[in-house]
Amino acid sequence: MSPAPELTAADACMSERLSCSACCGIFNYKGGDAERRAWVTENTRQFLALDISAAVNIVQYRKGREAVTLPNRVRDDIYVCPFVGFVDGQNQRTGCLLHPQGSPHPQISLWPHPQNFSFYGEGICLSYDCLAKDRKVYRADFFAWANAVSVFAYARLASDHTLHRALQRFAGNDIDLQRFYTAVAGLYERYRVVTTSFEDIERVLPGSAEELCHFLAERIDSRNAAQLGDELRAAYAACRAHS
Ligand code: SF4
Repeated sequence: MSPAPELTAADACMSERLSCSACCGIFNYKGGDAERRAWVTENTRQFLALDISAAVNIVQYRKGREAVTLPNRVRDDIYVCPFVGFVDGQNQRTGCLLHPQGSPHPQISLWPHPQNFSFYGEGICLSYDCLAKDRKVYRADFFAWANAVSVFAYARLASDHTLHRALQRFAGNDIDLQRFYTAVAGLYERYRVVTTSFEDIERVLPGSAEELCHFLAERIDSRNAAQLGDELRAAYAACRAHS
């Protein structure tokens, strides 16, 4: 049996069908999910067409894609890596086009450390571990919800360690939170919330559904926090009523 390949930042939250890539900056790319999908598709198309036996081609790819990617960021202090691509051949699962084992490029094994062509480099890409995954804080209903949603909806919430750590504190197993996840993911998409998985680690986690809804509403749009808080509380209450 061959050893399991090391996980890289982009692969940290992969399932059979879905993956995350939030830490690679995918949600800091400006636009809606249609633009995001088009950007990942174009990264993949261009990278797979390269002859990567020559280092210069990888370097030029990075320069060319950064030129269209970096001016199109929501936040200038967060990098967006142009080596995020679709790695499953079906434009479904995102991942690292430079991953030594997971890249779909047939020449990737020519390079012992291909991620060193990236901005972060292999040392960071291979070792970074998302807090939510590291602490194993996902609930079973989160994975049940993930079975029926898009890769981007899944990734937005998979990377949100505050959400999952807070729910672990107060939500019991007698409540099914799938409606709540749908509401949060929908608001994150609508308000273009940037989630990366390395947001500040709050010292005090929300300790109740009320506090969590307030926290999320402030994060989504502090100017509309009252109305957003109501939406989130209603979604949480609906979960209670249907559980
Ligand atoms: S090279 Fe880019 S896509 Fe790959 S793991 Fe690093 S940051 Fe993510």
